[in-house]
Amino acid sequence: MKAHDGMYIDGAWRPAAGQDAIEVVNPADEQVIGRVPAGTAEDVDTAVRAARAALPGWAATPPAERAARLAALRDVLVARKDEIAETVTAELGSPLKFSQNVHAAVPIAVAGSYAELAAAYAFEEKVGNSTVHHEPIGVVGAITPWNYPLHQIVAKAAPALAAGCTVVLKPAEDTPLVAQLFAEAVHEAGVPAGVFNLVTGLGPVAGQALAEHPDIDLVSFTGSTAVGRQIGATAGAAVKKVALELGGKSANVILPSADLAKAVNVGVANVMSNSGQTCSAWTRMLVHREQYEEAVELAATAAAKYGERIGPVVSAKQQQRVRGYIEKGVAEGARLVAGGAEPPRAQGYFVAPTVFADVAPDMTIAQEEIFGPVLSIIRYEDEDDALRIANGTAYGLAGAVWAGDQPEAVAFARRMDTGQVDINGGRFNPLAPFGGYKQSGVGRELGAHGLAEYLQTKSLQF
Ligand code: NAP
Ligand code: MG
Repeated sequence: MKAHDGMYIDGAWRPAAGQDAIEVVNPADEQVIGRVPAGTAEDVDTAVRAARAALPGWAATPPAERAARLAALRDVLVARKDEIAETVTAELGSPLKFSQNVHAAVPIAVAGSYAELAAAYAFEEKVGNSTVHHEPIGVVGAITPWNYPLHQIVAKAAPALAAGCTVVLKPAEDTPLVAQLFAEAVHEAGVPAGVFNLVTGLGPVAGQALAEHPDIDLVSFTGSTAVGRQIGATAGAAVKKVALELGGKSANVILPSADLAKAVNVGVANVMSNSGQTCSAWTRMLVHREQYEEAVELAATAAAKYGERIGPVVSAKQQQRVRGYIEKGVAEGARLVAGGAEPPRAQGYFVAPTVFADVAPDMTIAQEEIFGPVLSIIRYEDEDDALRIANGTAYGLAGAVWAGDQPEAVAFARRMDTGQVDINGGRFNPLAPFGGYKQSGVGRELGAHGLAEYLQTKSLQF
């Protein structure tokens, strides 16, 4: 993927208003692999105008035709899946196999799901003597992070386009290349000019200009809670809807009746995959005191084995941040049983797969999102204690429960204050609503619930 020296606005690649550029770095070898323009408020404004101008036409386009464009988009992503995987590996650093199986495959599934939903969704319903129309909310400002760079773009752009909205996207500065590839794919799919627009740039400049733009109807943001809070406040002041997909500190609750080895091994793999840069990762493993030492040993062994397969974290800044948390864990008295703060390689932003035992529920490493390959194993006394610990953070994005039988796991999961729970290792479902309780966010992505976020209702009475 060769970087474009421009913004994709109104159906064409146009020169940026300013001269500044962002260097894209491969975190595995620290080499510069490309340059993209750093957009300004002026670029954002041009893109928002294009999206506004395209809105009436796209909103009036029959859902079947919008579905056809989304199906074409899915087909382009399929045709370019190897290039997608290579691009994500180059700018995010994830191992190529993971890029193929997750970073390329999941967006294809999600784009496909919205091609089907756009065609099948009831955009009109009868309620008594009323007809309720589900209309597009308008121009969407989408701001995305780098950890699942294409998935997070598609999880916003696909439902927005399915709903009849137009979009301006500001992707993460660390992973702009796959965003440019996505803009090419939208173009190839025959989506009309102005319906999707891309402005690359820095968060506090281009991102903030987009979030504050008066002609944006909905801001959909995925990233840190700190920035999300600010975007929510800005939207609140303007009386605008906002969708926030924020952090997590999810609990993996292993009940005494569970298959311990399986639960621990899947739990470690869950935290280490994508180098721990997954908002829904089960970064706290909760184990009954009688099985605790066995679980710690299993986890340390699994993490050591994972070490050869792990990619770097995205940037030097993230590497420093994660190392800081590991040092803090040691300083607060947790017992390091695998990994540590020392970088395992001289080159690249690598962090060793790290496991802490004897973690108290209120330690920093058990409360804050680390966003690196770091697992905390916490001891519980009984089920009520496990539930208190599981629910005892500001977050509520995801979680897991393992038990000997499904009803026991389900009963526990129903008491968790969290938006998603995987039962005995249940697999990812691209149609299931994804989003947070508590400070993990506002709104839901994926499937029909994700589509509804981009719609507003109008009732006609007869
Ligand atoms: P971030 O700053 O929240 O970045 C997310 C997106 O928001 C990026 O596109 C970013 O641009 C943009 N942004 C930053 N400041 C902004 C502002 N003032 N107004 C509008 N947009 C703004 O997150 P980060 O710096 O990449 O990562 C920091 C931490 O956030 C991570 O360590 C992790 O804990 C958490 N995080 C969570 C998720 C998640 O999926 N829940 C994803 C990523 C990060 P830039 O790329 O230019 O910064
Ligand atoms: Mg940032």
